Amino acid sequence: ASCSVWCRRHLCVSVRRLQDSMSAWVIDQYGTNEVLRVSDEIMTPTIHLATEVLIKVEAASLNPLDISMRGGYGAKLLKLRREPLSVMQKGSEFPLILGRDVSGVVVGCGSQVTHFAPGDEVWAAVPPWKQGSLAEYVTLNEYEVSHKPKSLSHTEAASVPYVAATALSALVNAAGLSRDNCSDKRVLITGGSGGVGTFSIQLLKAWGAHVTVTCSGNAEGLVRGLGADEVVDYTAGDVAAQLESTEKFDVVLDNVGGGDTERWAVGLLRPWSGAKYVTLVTPLLHNADSAGLLEGVARSGCNLHNKAMQNLVSRGVFYRWGFFAPDGPALDEVSVLVDAGKMLPVVQACFPFSQVPQAFQKVEQGHARGKTVIRVA
Ligand code: NDP
Repeated sequence: ASCSVWCRRHLCVSVRRLQDSMSAWVIDQYGTNEVLRVSDEIMTPTIHLATEVLIKVEAASLNPLDISMRGGYGAKLLKLRREPLSVMQKGSEFPLILGRDVSGVVVGCGSQVTHFAPGDEVWAAVPPWKQGSLAEYVTLNEYEVSHKPKSLSHTEAASVPYVAATALSALVNAAGLSRDNCSDKRVLITGGSGGVGTFSIQLLKAWGAHVTVTCSGNAEGLVRGLGADEVVDYTAGDVAAQLESTEKFDVVLDNVGGGDTERWAVGLLRPWSGAKYVTLVTPLLHNADSAGLLEGVARSGCNLHNKAMQNLVSRGVFYRWGFFAPDGPALDEVSVLVDAGKMLPVVQACFPFSQVPQAFQKVEQGHARGKTVIRVA
């Protein structure tokens, strides 16, 4: 209690008086959908750092990562990031709140927060090492948050941040693309019909790239509607064979992964021209879970190094892993594109807060066509 009083006096410019407890969907152990539990007695987060903002969640969304994390995926590495001093302590992360996207309203700001004020409508991707957005309130650092596009409802806005931050990190940091260098670039996106794919198509088209997409035949209308120039139906036969006679690519963004996709996709890149293969499906967290932190990370590092060297020497292409990275300023740029009508949210399904387990079930079934959103407030 004394900490909370200190926080209120010294850190918070303004926090509306909140209840000490809030509603949230939590898990107390890893497992299948049965481990999800709703509770009204989860402690409302408070502002611990002067740079934090407290957000009242209006809408959240689910990502494949939520399904994996519910089952314990990434537990070891995420715990190391979350609470390094108790990394060996079993179960200290529970009750754990999942949910990586938030659209909501700022209700409190730390004393050093400069870009936000109570009442601001914001959107953000919640890093997987923080308590998630399937709750009434979430706390984030100012640099992770951005003003929500005015043209979107909270439900629409919640479908964007996590896939946007991931796509931007992969396309900008790993693939070296930007709005200023895309006009002569040919990009192949595998898994174009999902969350990351539907966002990446629109971003790359807004930046002027030529975009080819792989997806199921029944998603062709969706991805063409978002701007894809060429579409390959991976269910209709060998993708590499279907793309054999087309011009080579400068970048492949692989949202599907697996040894098979990786093998043929790197072969479609323009050799010795700086072309890059970036996959979002990496073994890093899985290796840390199965082999332990040190060995798992070391094994992943060797794996990445070997593949990078092999592809560079034998094919003249760069091989890279892409990762989500929290980035409020990057979301500011997306906000501008959205409000200019250059990007649309792709919401496939929306569930009320009472039906979070049904939403998990839907995402777990796969075959996403955009995003699954949860209306929280
Ligand atoms: P989604 O589940 O939203 O989308 C996946 C899409 O791929 C679906 O539309 C699916 O539809 C389609 N698909 C499945 N198999 C194939 C195939 N062989 N060829 C082409 N399309 C296929 O996932 P996200 O877009 O959110 O994420 C994509 C991947 O990136 C996931 O594996 C996710 O875990 C990973 N990821 C990694 C991050 C990181 O930090 N490294 C961050 C975010 C995501 P259908 O089956 O009907 O064809």
